[in-house]
Amino acid sequence: MKAVPEMFGCLVFNEKVMQERLPKDTYKLMKKSFQDGKRMSLEVATVVANAMKDWAIENGATHYTHWFQPMTGITAEKHDSFITPTDNGGAIMEFSGKELVRGEPDASSFPSGGLRATFEARGYTAWDPTSYAFIKEGSLCIPTAFCSYGGEALDQKTPLLRSMEALSKQALRVLKLFGNDDVTGVKTTVGPEQEYFLISREMYEARKDLIYTGRTLFGCKPPKGQEMDDHYFGTLKPAVSSFMADLDETLWKLGVLAKTKHNEVAPAQHELAPIFTTSNIAVDHNQLTMEMMKKVAERHGMVCLLHEKPFEGVNGSGKHNNWSMITNTGTNLLEPGQTPYENAQFLLFLCAVIKAVDEYQDMLRISVASAANDHRLGAHEAPPAVMSIFVGDELMEILEAIEMNRPYDSKETVQMKIGVHVLPKFPKDNTDRNRTSPFAFTGNRFEFRMAGSSQSIASPNTVLNTAVAEELRLFSEELEGAKDFTSALHNLIRKTIGDHKRILFNGNGYDDCWIEEAKRRNLSNLKTTPEALTHLLDEKNIALFTTHKVFSQLEMKSRYEINLESYCKTLNIEALTMIDMATHDIFPAVSAYAAQLAANAAAKGAFAGCTAEKKLIEKISALTDSFYEDLEKLETALAGAEPLADSKDAAFYYKDNVLSAMQALRTDADALEQLTAADFWPYPSYGDMLFSIK
Ligand code: ADP
Ligand code: MG
Repeated sequence: MKAVPEMFGCLVFNEKVMQERLPKDTYKLMKKSFQDGKRMSLEVATVVANAMKDWAIENGATHYTHWFQPMTGITAEKHDSFITPTDNGGAIMEFSGKELVRGEPDASSFPSGGLRATFEARGYTAWDPTSYAFIKEGSLCIPTAFCSYGGEALDQKTPLLRSMEALSKQALRVLKLFGNDDVTGVKTTVGPEQEYFLISREMYEARKDLIYTGRTLFGCKPPKGQEMDDHYFGTLKPAVSSFMADLDETLWKLGVLAKTKHNEVAPAQHELAPIFTTSNIAVDHNQLTMEMMKKVAERHGMVCLLHEKPFEGVNGSGKHNNWSMITNTGTNLLEPGQTPYENAQFLLFLCAVIKAVDEYQDMLRISVASAANDHRLGAHEAPPAVMSIFVGDELMEILEAIEMNRPYDSKETVQMKIGVHVLPKFPKDNTDRNRTSPFAFTGNRFEFRMAGSSQSIASPNTVLNTAVAEELRLFSEELEGAKDFTSALHNLIRKTIGDHKRILFNGNGYDDCWIEEAKRRNLSNLKTTPEALTHLLDEKNIALFTTHKVFSQLEMKSRYEINLESYCKTLNIEALTMIDMATHDIFPAVSAYAAQLAANAAAKGAFAGCTAEKKLIEKISALTDSFYEDLEKLETALAGAEPLADSKDAAFYYKDNVLSAMQALRTDADALEQLTAADFWPYPSYGDMLFSIK
C-alpha cells in the first residue's frame, strides 16, 4: 500500500497536476478565467483537455464523462471513449477543448417538472472548473452543471453555485463596512457527517422491500435493539473495520478528505465525516462518498443502506450539514474574534443566520423534504419537523443582555456594547452540545441536522446560502446609509435579536412539550413532505430566490412539481412492493404454517387435547383475516390515486390514504411474524439483519 500522502488525490487532476502538466501561460489564463468567472477560450480549453487526456490515459482511463447531478438526487454520467478513427483503419485517443467544456446529453429522461414541455428536450452540461476532474472506473469524470437549452437549471449544482455567488456578493458589502478592504471573496464551507447502515448481502437479497424501496416495509421489533446504548462509538467489528479501511483508501485516492469514522447509535449503523471544504466541492465529494460506500460494501459482501429510515423503531440516518462562511483571507465569519470590532462583525453575521433561519424556516424544511425523511424527522433521536436554533447558554445570555441593554454578567458593571466589548470565547467541546436541535451553533459553525442520509446536500445549502445572503443584503442596505455606524449597528443587532428570538431554543428538541411551546411561538411544523412543499411557491420564497437570481420562478415551479411527483412515485412503489410481498410471500407462509399446525394437531389428536395448537391457529387465523382485509384496502386505496392528475392532490392523497393503509397492513403482518415459526417466515428478521455483520 502506498503511503497516504502519496495516495491522496492520485486519481484527481488537481492543482499540483495542472501545474506540472500545463504550459505556464495556459495555466495562468485558465486560473484567470476561473477567478473572473468567465468561460475560458477554446484555445486554452484545447490545451487543458489534451493534458487531462494524457494524464487520464496514463492512469488507466479510456473514457471520459461529464459528471452531473440531475434532480434524481444521484449523479449521472454518460461515457464516451477517447478513440477517434484514423485513415488507415486504426484509432488514436483524442479529447477536444469543446468536449471538455460542454456536453449535450439528451435531457428528456431526467426529471424537469414541466420545463421540458416548454423548452427543447436537449440539455447541456458545462464544466464547473472549481471542482477538479477525477478518474473513476476507467473514466475521466468532469464535474459539470446541467441546464436546459433555455438556461434553466435542471440540476442541483447550478443553483448551489448561484447561491454561493449571491452570498459572497452580499457578505462582501457587509465586510467593507467593517473596513475589510483586503477581502475579495467569501465562500461557504460545509462538512457533512454521513450516517449509514451495513447489512450482509445475503440478508439484503432475501428482502424485496430493501431491493425495491431501500427500506423495510415489514418487520417486527427484535428482542434487542439500541436500548443498551452499546453500539455508539463501540469497537468496530473486523468486517466493518476492513470495509472502512477500504472506503478511506478509495476516497483518499479521489481526493475526498475522509477523516472520522465510528459506530453510530443503532446496531449496524455507522458514520463517516470528512474535513470540511467549499460547499460545491463538499457536495460533489458527498455524492462520491455515497456512491463509493455502496460499491465498497459490495466488495465486502455487504450492502450499504443510505435510506433515512431503513428499520422502523430504530434510529434513522441523517446527514449533519456543518456550515460556515470563510473569507479569501482565511477568516471564519462565525468564529468570535479577538477584538471588539471583530466581535461586532461576528454578531452581525450570527444575527443574519438567526434571522434567515427564522424567516425561511419553511424553505429549510422543504430543502430536506422527501417521503423517506418524513419517517425520520420527529422519530427516534432525530430532530422534529420544527425549526429552531440552539446557541448554547453562554451566547444566549449575551444575546439577551444586548437585547435588554443590560450588563452581560454580574462581574460586568457596564452595559454590553457592541463594538466596544470583547466577547468571551465560547466552548467548542462536546459538553455544551445539544444533539436534539435541528440547527445548532457549535462554536464556529452551525450544524443543520435535518438533512437525510440519502439526500444531496446541495438543496439545503442553496437555501441556507440564499437566505443568509438576503439578510446580509438588508443589513448592508440599512448600515450603508447610516450616519453613525456603531450605533446603527448596535440598534440593528438589538432589533434583530428582539424580532427573531422565538427561533432560539436551547432545550430538548425531542420533548413533546417543545412542540407545544413551538406552536405558541408560532413556529411552523410541517410534518410531511406534501404539507411542506405547499409553501415552496409562497410569495416571500419566490421573492427570495428571484432577487438573488438563484432560481427563476419557472425553475421553482419545476422543482415543486419534481418533488411532489417523486413523493407520489416513492409511495406508489412502496405500496406495490407491500402488495407483492403480502400476496406472494407472507400470506402463503402464514397459511402454510396454520395448515402445518392443524396437521400437527390432527396427528397428535389421539393423545392430547392440542390446546396450544388450537389457540395459535385461532390467533393466526384472526390476524390473517384482518391482514387480508387490509391488503384489499391498500389495493383499493392505491387504485384511487390513479385518476388524480394534479400532483399536489395526488401527494396529499398518498399521504392521507395510501400511507395509512400501508401502516395498517404492516401492523398485522408484524404481529403475524411474531407468531410464525422462523422456518416458515419468508424473510430475514430485524434481528437477523441488524446483527448480521460479524
Ligand atoms: P460531531 O459528530 O462531534 O458533530 P464530527 O467531527 O463528526 O463532529 O463532524 C464535524 C464536521 O464539521 C466535520 O466534517 C468538520 O470538518 C466540520 N467543520 C468544522 N469546521 C467547519 C467549518 N468552519 N465549516 C464547515 N464545517 C466545519
Ligand atoms: Mg459526527
